[in-house]
Amino acid sequence: MQNESEVAVLRLGHRPGRDNRMTTHVGLTARALGADRVILDGASGPAETIEDITERFGGPFEVQVTESPKGVLRNWDGVVVHLTMYGERVQDVEGTIRECHASGEPVLIVVGAEKVSFDVYEAADWNVGVTNQPHSEVAGLAVFLDRLFEGRELDREWDDADQHVVPMPTGKKVVPAEEE
Ligand code: SAM
Repeated sequence: MQNESEVAVLRLGHRPGRDNRMTTHVGLTARALGADRVILDGASGPAETIEDITERFGGPFEVQVTESPKGVLRNWDGVVVHLTMYGERVQDVEGTIRECHASGEPVLIVVGAEKVSFDVYEAADWNVGVTNQPHSEVAGLAVFLDRLFEGRELDREWDDADQHVVPMPTGKKVVPAEEE
């Protein structure tokens, strides 16, 4: 988020075709809930969709496609949080991770698609479970980001949007940005 140290999301193990929708949703969730950047493991289709949403609904938000996700992990200059059902309970470690982020450390959040190799568990500063039940990388990411930012992300402003949604009790209202 603006004026805070960077939070990036690395999506590992994208299977072209099969994972397109989930990878897109990882990116859209990262953007909507306050991350600054998503790094996709060779997923250009989802990258285009996420960039299109950012153009229409605003940013800043960066989308990067890498052929070397393990290189991103190795070279990350900050702390690494790997979301996994086998990890420590989010409620037990979130405070320490928040303190690191608040002290200026960039945070890389890693989520998988299929089985994640053990070197990722070893490379992470924290392996974190959002419950120790199997569910989804999108759900895990959403809960983790909300806890990291303690809800601040819900009030963020969007720059350079073409359009805004006007919140309404019923119905849908979308207006060009200059009309707001
Ligand atoms: N079976 C795979 C494994 O053993 O690594 C996990 C596949 S799961 C469908 C895809 C991703 O969802 C995981 O890599 C993890 O990032 C995330 N995930 C699933 N359950 C989670 C949980 N309880 N807490 C945090 N992340 C979770």
